[in-house]
Amino acid sequence: MACGTARAQSSGSACGEAPALSRGNAAGENEFVRHADVSADESRVAVASARREHHGVHELYLPAQNAAEAALVPGVAVYGAADLRSLCAHLAGEDPDARLAPVHASAFDAAPAAPPPDMADVIGQRGARRALEVAAAGGHHLLMVGPPGAGKSMLAARLPGLLPPMTDDEALASAALLSASAIGFTPQQWRQRPFRAPHHSSSAAALIGGRNPPQPGEITLAHLGVLFLDELPEFDRHVLETLREPLEVGAITISRAAWQTDFPAACQLVAAMNPCPCGWRGDPAGRCRCTPESAARYLRKLSGPLLDRIDIQIEIPALPPAELAARASASAESSAAIALRVQAARKRQLARQGKTNRELTGRETDAVCRPDAAGETLLREAGERFGWSARAHYRVLKVARTIADLAGMPTPEAAHVAEAVQYRRVFAER
Ligand SMILES: [Zn+2]
Repeated sequence: MACGTARAQSSGSACGEAPALSRGNAAGENEFVRHADVSADESRVAVASARREHHGVHELYLPAQNAAEAALVPGVAVYGAADLRSLCAHLAGEDPDARLAPVHASAFDAAPAAPPPDMADVIGQRGARRALEVAAAGGHHLLMVGPPGAGKSMLAARLPGLLPPMTDDEALASAALLSASAIGFTPQQWRQRPFRAPHHSSSAAALIGGRNPPQPGEITLAHLGVLFLDELPEFDRHVLETLREPLEVGAITISRAAWQTDFPAACQLVAAMNPCPCGWRGDPAGRCRCTPESAARYLRKLSGPLLDRIDIQIEIPALPPAELAARASASAESSAAIALRVQAARKRQLARQGKTNRELTGRETDAVCRPDAAGETLLREAGERFGWSARAHYRVLKVARTIADLAGMPTPEAAHVAEAVQYRRVFAER
């Protein structure tokens, strides 16, 4: 289906050439969205078209089966036409019985999604639960290192449920992206933060986008949600390197010889990995069979610059048998309770700086993340001990700021800095 825009000086003459599917603004200039076939069933373009055009467009005409999706866009009257004949009859306006009725997006409200996985299911793992809360509060990228079965994937899947509810603009942006992509958009996804978990065999094009015509990659499909990369060292190193810039700036530019396309990519990265090829390095029962060389080679697959961009890096130990046994009867704090603290911390960030702590520039970090004197000393000592890059230093400051925001404190203190330092020690001490 071809989709583009054209302008015309008069309304109502839509039936001659290609069907005109949107019309009308008060300025006398009418804007049309052209579709090759009004009965086409490619519903994925509907929301995208509507959103792109809704500035200055008051009416939008779409194939009947796509209209409810586009009706999500506020301020636009959306009409669904069964065929060209009914569209023309409506636009001619001569027969009152032929008028189409505006479509409402009620189908989306009536289609509640399944509840997201809940933190109440995660028993034990206090450190990991806390790290996930801090990551959610500041929008920080997160890396979990631990043996198979420690619960890394389970924790990752619960991050979207801790994030603040989507605003109207975010919900529309997410719906438009999914709607325009090959995976499409369903009512159950409305206002749900995306969670994308591509396999480690994914190509660079699959991850960051590409092909001809340009298709968004996983990092764009995860826009405003979570991108989960399990078994991180198993991804092609070149593919991982292509993620560095979009993770930093929240957008990706795909350049080919004939075209260049920008896609949004403001997602939160959650990565997981084993500590060594067999997965059991550091296991008290001595299950690891890897040589020190093979374990070191495994970790070297991740580049320093990529790790530098992951604010929170934690070890997730295997659950001791006693904790496993307690799982059946125990209950843990729910996602809803944690999400309230996350929302309060986010509100402080938005009020102070209009963005999450992860998104702060170096200069902004200096301005709003400076800890008190004791925190400053602790930070300097840790930086010298672990040989941090300037980038790593700023990452710790931002995480300390988030921890102080969760505590409702105006200035990060030594305890907040100390916790932030803990989140960068996994690789420092190997
Ligand atoms: Zn091993």
